[in-house]
Amino acid sequence: MKYDYVIIGNSAGGIGCAEAIREVDRESSLAIISAEKYRTYSRALIPYYLDGRIDEEKMYYRPEDFYEKIDAEAHLGVKVERVNVDSKEVELESGEKLGFNKLLIATGGKPFIPPMEGLKNQKNAFTFLSFDDVLRVKEACENSDKVVVLGGGIIGLMVAEVLSRKGLEVKVVELLERVLAPVVDETVSRIVQRKFEENGVEMILGDTISKVSGEEEIQSVTLRSGRKIETDMLVIAVGVIPNVDVVKGTSIKINRGIVVNRKMETSAKDIYACGDCAEVYDSILGSYRVLPLWPIAYSGGRVAGFNMCGVERELIFATAMNAMHFFDYYIITGGLNLRDGERDFEVISEIEGENYRKVVLKDGEILGFIVGGEVRRAGILMKLMREKLNVSSFKESLVKSSFGFLDIPKEFRWELLGDKVKIGVVREV
Ligand SMILES: Cc1cc2nc3c(=O)[nH]c(=O)nc-3n(C[C@H](O)[C@H](O)[C@H](O)COP(=O)(O)OP(=O)(O)OC[C@H]3O[C@@H](n4cnc5c(N)ncnc54)[C@H](O)[C@@H]3O)c2cc1C
Repeated sequence: MKYDYVIIGNSAGGIGCAEAIREVDRESSLAIISAEKYRTYSRALIPYYLDGRIDEEKMYYRPEDFYEKIDAEAHLGVKVERVNVDSKEVELESGEKLGFNKLLIATGGKPFIPPMEGLKNQKNAFTFLSFDDVLRVKEACENSDKVVVLGGGIIGLMVAEVLSRKGLEVKVVELLERVLAPVVDETVSRIVQRKFEENGVEMILGDTISKVSGEEEIQSVTLRSGRKIETDMLVIAVGVIPNVDVVKGTSIKINRGIVVNRKMETSAKDIYACGDCAEVYDSILGSYRVLPLWPIAYSGGRVAGFNMCGVERELIFATAMNAMHFFDYYIITGGLNLRDGERDFEVISEIEGENYRKVVLKDGEILGFIVGGEVRRAGILMKLMREKLNVSSFKESLVKSSFGFLDIPKEFRWELLGDKVKIGVVREV
């Protein structure tokens, strides 16, 4: 069987691509392949499903007849083994081959599992990336009292919070000396750590699990420091790495993720990539990197889809941006997160209780910001950063808790609101 368009991946990137293709081309054949058996769902909602705040139906952000409506053949629960660049085919696990004229690879990320002595496929060890993962965790925590979460990043802390709300005794083990290190600074790390501790979660920092004990089920973990912790469950959430398995050993260039240009073209003709498996151009950093974020995957998919149909588009804006909350503490970040002590940048910050605002500037332009606690109007910082406006004349006001639109000089206000500003992240070329 040969299709005009084949998309590997049925999540943000794949769906963005399929929808863009159908905006331009209703006629050509289109196949979407996904190793997961579910119709497209929101990965970001997994913690809320575990929490019981949403039911299964709310996880799905497209209706049941979505594939029919966009006239796409959905191959769900079907794993692609490899891409054959020369013959323009994808080879399925079953051995079947599907041909394509244009291909999008949107295979996302996979969990990183650090080496731990004794870790095999014990049934109470989990990762937390997929719907299958959350179903397993949900079932397991019904019969568990104690859990160890390895990893104090966003996903690890989200799981830890939900499980502690469910009444489990939770211990978080983090290798670094502070939580959320890749996304926030020391100040916010400490506030978040305190929130967890106040809610009865033990935060074990600067340590990791070196050994797990138990055959069928893990009974205890031993830390590098020698401490032994009895547990009913282990959740491993130390990071996500680009899932580039289907292109390994092909001519498609891979760095950390699949290398693409701003049209999402890979190094192989007619083959595109986007989302967590690819490296995109970070407009603030000025270089390519993996940015595992939902809106970037979706926009990248749209850019790829248009280009696959011959309508030229580029991804014009992508950078790190996170909105998160732990217990009652809200955080919004954008752009660069300076490691503490880095120079060459101007840093302005202000803290009032737990309300924290910090901007990182270079040559008068915002390169990054963190807002914690009261997060209203953080969107203005994102807009100023994105439009690369020189904020020197009002930089001090950016970190005031009262900061608002009226603090921005009139001429900039027009620039921010007016026609000059290109809205959207996809540009015609
Ligand atoms: C718990 C959690 C919370 C998150 N919260 C946020 C958030 O608040 N904001 C945000 O911006 N981002 C968030 N993210 C990240 C966001 O979900 C990802 O950036 C986004 O899902 C990436 O989309 P993608 O299309 O690149 O890949 P994925 O969503 O990873 O999907 C990959 C697709 O490829 C398929 N696939 C993979 N390998 C194969 C194969 N060999 N054969 C066939 N199919 C294959 C999979 O079945 C799946 O359909 C969160 C992620 C998690 C896990």
